Amino acid sequence: MINIVLIGMPGSGKSSLGRYVADSLGMEFLDTDVLIERHEKRPITEIFKTDGEPYFRQAETSVIDFVAKAVREVPAGERKNNGLVLSVGGGAAENPANVEFMRGIGRIVHIERPLDALERDISYNGNRPLLSDRERLVELFTRRTPIYRAAADLYVTNEGSFEEAAEALLLSVRMMGAEAAYLVIGDPIGHSLSPKLHRAIYAEIESHPELVSGGNNLCERFAGASYGAARVASGELGEAMRSVRKGGVMGLNVTIPHKKEIIPYLDEIAGDAAAAGAVNTVVNRGGRLVGYNTDMEGLKYALESRGVSYSGAVVSVCGTGGAAAGIACKAAECDAAEIIIIGRSEEKASAISSAARKLAGEADTKITFVSHDFESQGLPVELAEAISRTDLLVNATPLGMGSAGRRFADFSFLDGLKKNAFVYDVVYEPRETALICAAKERGIRTESGLSMLICQGILSDELFFGVRLERQRMFEAVLDKFPVS
Ligand code: NAP
Repeated sequence: MINIVLIGMPGSGKSSLGRYVADSLGMEFLDTDVLIERHEKRPITEIFKTDGEPYFRQAETSVIDFVAKAVREVPAGERKNNGLVLSVGGGAAENPANVEFMRGIGRIVHIERPLDALERDISYNGNRPLLSDRERLVELFTRRTPIYRAAADLYVTNEGSFEEAAEALLLSVRMMGAEAAYLVIGDPIGHSLSPKLHRAIYAEIESHPELVSGGNNLCERFAGASYGAARVASGELGEAMRSVRKGGVMGLNVTIPHKKEIIPYLDEIAGDAAAAGAVNTVVNRGGRLVGYNTDMEGLKYALESRGVSYSGAVVSVCGTGGAAAGIACKAAECDAAEIIIIGRSEEKASAISSAARKLAGEADTKITFVSHDFESQGLPVELAEAISRTDLLVNATPLGMGSAGRRFADFSFLDGLKKNAFVYDVVYEPRETALICAAKERGIRTESGLSMLICQGILSDELFFGVRLERQRMFEAVLDKFPVS
């Protein structure tokens, strides 16, 4: 639960934007001007006319102090709403004492509306006591803008439509942790299974605390854990990460298109993330954002639980993207005998090969490239030959994903696989992809990307909460919650 205080010029949209965000997130909305009018039982214009600005400012300070005390004194668990959005009058931030009270309430967000937009909207009809004419507007804007900027933790620009500013503010508040302390971010995000997966893990820990290794008290770290999803478009990532730094989000899972793009916004890149050049997990360690990659270790774990190991195996990886790079690196690190990269881009395969070679252990893994477009019919000799010596074939392309996605042209390449080979499809939607079905029809052992998804999620939660989970039992318990589709 977090609280937000909105500051900015009169007419900047603080109240309407604040109300929108509060309604969207189930938060309480308060406006200091409304609280003052209610207390004084007369409109602001009359207070100014009868008692002058100093009297109003005193009332304003009392109200902000009152809200700060209420926030301090009512324990979070006893509040009716998911936090508070407080819109304060345009002049409130000019008093340093008010800014201190605001900091005691929550994060301060400056709604920055450019002067020309304010000029367009404001009518000098006496409703805003300090805005008698354009000259006064310019004077207030010039004086207050640096004060707002100095006081605010974050700013949101309101220069286009209301909808644009409302969505930007909503995203900022979400990324500060208003809905959940753990989030998956990506674009699109509606399809993501991560909220279901992590909520299933937290529910499992609640009913079986022994799934957290190393003592019952460690399971308390999961008490009240909440997991949500936020759509973050490419252009919004910088703002979103600034909000994470200012707010209460403790951990992120990162999906397409941000796995590489997020790296410059982090303080440290650890373990597999550095090797793969891609991050799927971010842990907020007291304000220091550390990026990890649990995808590759998740796949390794999922394979091992089916008795399949990279060590000494000939591993064919279909695709030359992020997942393919991580899989090749992990296979090299685990002493695969040979890695065959099958894809459309020799250039990308060569970059993967260089990264994997650096990680290769004592096995001196051989790395080869076979050029093939899986949407084209036919079985080139080079591909057939590579497949014939493959022990583990991993599809790391999105082919076969969803009901309307792109597909493999045919599966004749599977005919040449050894009978004891294993086919893994990183695609998990549908759970039984056409590739998995085709391999099963040929009597080949298979596994769907759902196991990798679940394992990487378990590993992310271990990093988020600083614990070790009973991985196999957790995996089986969570897998039960995902029906075959
Ligand atoms: P990516 O970086 O976009 O890479 C996709 C790769 O597929 C690209 O190299 C692309 O080749 C290749 N490709 C596409 N069509 C192809 C074709 N017809 N023939 C040959 N290669 C083709 O995506 P990613 O991040 O690696 O993800 C790949 C898939 O893995 C996605 O479906 C994702 O959802 C899934 N995934 C699953 C998990 C899990 O937990 N199960 C985790 C991570 C990723 P070009 O470079 O030539 O375009």
